[in-house]
Amino acid sequence: MQILDGLAVSQHIKEQIKLEVAALKNKGGKTPHLAAILVGNNPASEAYVGNKVRTCEELGFGSTLLRFDSDISEFVLLNEVQKLNDNPDIDGILVQLPLPKHISENAIINAIHPGKDVDGFHPISQGKMVLGQDTFLPATPYGIMLMLEYYNLDLTGKHCVVIGRSNIVGTPMSILLSRNTRPGNATVTLAHSRTRDLKSLTLQADVIVAAIGKPGFLTGDMVKEGAIVIDVGINRIDDPSRKSGSRLVGDVDFDSVAPKCSYITPVPKGVGPMTICGLMKNTLKSAQAR
Ligand code: NDP
Repeated sequence: MQILDGLAVSQHIKEQIKLEVAALKNKGGKTPHLAAILVGNNPASEAYVGNKVRTCEELGFGSTLLRFDSDISEFVLLNEVQKLNDNPDIDGILVQLPLPKHISENAIINAIHPGKDVDGFHPISQGKMVLGQDTFLPATPYGIMLMLEYYNLDLTGKHCVVIGRSNIVGTPMSILLSRNTRPGNATVTLAHSRTRDLKSLTLQADVIVAAIGKPGFLTGDMVKEGAIVIDVGINRIDDPSRKSGSRLVGDVDFDSVAPKCSYITPVPKGVGPMTICGLMKNTLKSAQAR
């Protein structure tokens, strides 16, 4: 069993990005600049955005963090997005989800200029992705593809079961894995909460991507020997043995699944750092196109 080390791969990719930023500046190009919008004070969202802003600093990108109270109106937030669309110094706009219930996430995502949609959530980005056209790929599935590429894992003809069909993870993941480009070319089953007898599907899978949001959901008895398992889940559970009283776990029960796998991602330090790489690569791509 080999660990797919998202932290190590992300360090490698970040070094490449730094070189590309230097080359861009040498050519007289602009410094990539990411703007992040954070509404309210959800601790998980604070942590994700903080991480992204820190990574911008590490890579020599500019970053702007716009914070708003959770009672901001949809109209005012749309106006803030528009200001970022119109600001020529901003290459990428990230709106940290979830947003408060009174704001339509679709309305906000649709308002982001597709040329600055570095999270890859805009319908134009998603449509182009489905058609295999050049675009910003959604950061998490993009990061996973970068990781598979780094480890030179050939999925051609393999059966991949993606569990979870969200617009930001499961659905785009299933599309990227099934495309006729490496590391895709897989045969994909997309499973969700209405899937019948999930275990019979996962037991046939050469590759399982778990993006469910339920701690330890995928257990060893659901996985065949030699499978590759990618754990997207980030779940905080109580752990009285920790100073903080909690810890992060994935959607995979690592202890029972890992012994059966050829490769597996840990949580933390697996998919999480790769998601940030996907976002940073998209922001660089946007700056390079200006
Ligand atoms: P969503 O809640 O949007 O989607 C969860 C999906 O899991 C849904 O499609 C749901 O099905 C499916 N599901 C729920 N229960 C079951 C079940 N019993 N059997 C099969 N499928 C089930 O979550 P996200 O896709 O946004 O996120 C998934 C996980 O990944 C979360 O833990 C999240 O924190 C994490 N995440 C991690 C990232 C990273 O960088 N590592 C980035 C983004 C998310 P249905 O559609 O039928 O409801």
